[in-house]
Amino acid sequence: MDASPQRRRQEIEPAEISQESNTQLRISWADGRICHYDSLALRRVCPCAQCVDEWTGNRILKPESVAQEVEINDLSIVGRYALNFIWSDGHQTGIYSFEYLRNLCERDGTG
Ligand SMILES: [Zn+2]
Repeated sequence: MDASPQRRRQEIEPAEISQESNTQLRISWADGRICHYDSLALRRVCPCAQCVDEWTGNRILKPESVAQEVEINDLSIVGRYALNFIWSDGHQTGIYSFEYLRNLCERDGTG
């Protein structure tokens, strides 16, 4: 039953979203997994149209151009499916879907 739609829904449904510090975010998912996110890593993978070419999918943002000390000034939930961050460098157009965040966590093997 691993790949059932029901299970996948739980995997991308946050039970708790907690900003633990200016640079640390924790999401507890409905399936019980807990993922930790670092502000610099998140900022570098911003999926917005300024950071990623919408047509080719190529990343426009250069990872090294993001300030090491970038912080999360604020975050909000968009609809029921995504998070929006306001970064300390003024960037705030990225919409990080829960599925995207979950995939980041699984890919990095954190949490
Ligand atoms: Zn962006």
